[in-house]
Amino acid sequence: MRNRKFSSLLAVTFLFVFIASVAVVPQVLAGHYDHNKIYKHITTPKEFFGYDIGEDYFLANYTQLYNYWKKLDRESNRMKVIKIGTTSGLTQPFQDPPYERPMIAAVISSPENLARLDYYKNIAKRLALAEGLTDEEAKVLASKGKAIVYIGSSMHATELVSNQALIQMVYKMASQNDEETLQILDDVIFLAVPENPDGMELVSNWYMNDHVTGLPQTDPLKRSTSGLPTLYQKYVAHDNNRDFFTVYQSEAQALSRLWFHEFFPQIIYCQHQSGPSGLVLFIGAVRDPMNYNLDRGVLSGLENMSSYVYQRYARKDLPGGGARSMANYSAWHNGMVRTVAYFHNVIGILSEITGSPTPTRITFQPQKLVAKADYPYPIMPQDVWHLSQCLELSVHVSWPGAPSATSDGDQPSDVPPGPGNRHAPRSPALEPVRRARSTG
Ligand SMILES: [Zn+2]
Repeated sequence: MRNRKFSSLLAVTFLFVFIASVAVVPQVLAGHYDHNKIYKHITTPKEFFGYDIGEDYFLANYTQLYNYWKKLDRESNRMKVIKIGTTSGLTQPFQDPPYERPMIAAVISSPENLARLDYYKNIAKRLALAEGLTDEEAKVLASKGKAIVYIGSSMHATELVSNQALIQMVYKMASQNDEETLQILDDVIFLAVPENPDGMELVSNWYMNDHVTGLPQTDPLKRSTSGLPTLYQKYVAHDNNRDFFTVYQSEAQALSRLWFHEFFPQIIYCQHQSGPSGLVLFIGAVRDPMNYNLDRGVLSGLENMSSYVYQRYARKDLPGGGARSMANYSAWHNGMVRTVAYFHNVIGILSEITGSPTPTRITFQPQKLVAKADYPYPIMPQDVWHLSQCLELSVHVSWPGAPSATSDGDQPSDVPPGPGNRHAPRSPALEPVRRARSTG
């Protein structure tokens, strides 16, 4: 395990090398960086879409997201776009017959990590499957591996905020050069996935176009997602998030393959909408009674992640995030993304955000105005609430998924084994959470 000093030293060294490669002595590092890529300008959302992501009255559709990420892949050495499957192929209004869309994941990390992706994937796989692995071997592998964090968006396509937030998050990860972002990129391999491409195309086009003619709606005030003419998943609609037990749908097959056959993430974060009224975002810990069948390491990891998010929100002066008693979400359904994750000893995280490209409100809810342990920073009612404000909270959730250079030494090694898996996901599953928390 890396100790604090060694970790900090690594971070400082990496930062120095990175800055030098960009600004001072790039020729020295010709063997490590693709210069053609590193000097390229990273196209901003505004340049690509004509709008800022989160701008009022704008929704990017899946075709735009797909082309934007392909462009970022060419421009940035921190990001690879991989195809992970195909969609069910939903009929779209005003378009030709249905066709299956490619499902993609943006794999985001430091250039060095991406160059050794197979090495880190193999460590994650060995730890997760734990076949013939001793505790000591697991600890060594955990110390050498990177945290793999999956972030999925808008499986329920009318819950549209997180698709837009994911575009924003990927752009920031690909372009920001602040110390924290660079450290995160060094410590974490992110998998960013829009989970329902058919639905994203449907909902975004329905919002941006005239509902009768299908032509662009030139009056922003008339843009609306109401009256959607068809379900947003071809066969099972909203129950696409109940399909991770049976895995019948092509989307669930693509995601399950990505998680449990290829990358073996330690955190699976699934973003939904809308949260309980009076809040902006529900995230993390869910209500009691807790599912006592789950590994205690998973449960405590979920708690730690929640705590860190709230601490970060407080420090960033972002009110409106709550958990546990603020809604009815529980850990007792076995077929959803986050709950299936629990049974693979993965920390499955749910968020439920509020918001729309057409500005909305934060309503007056007297019982939501007082701080609680699981709602430490209440938000006051807001007459106008913009999508960009939602995205700010949403994107910050992605950052604490990362470890930090200020981590303080040995990792927990005595997390009790879970059912069916004696070794693996213990330390790696807890590591990103614990280390992230230590930055608080
Ligand atoms: Zn949902």
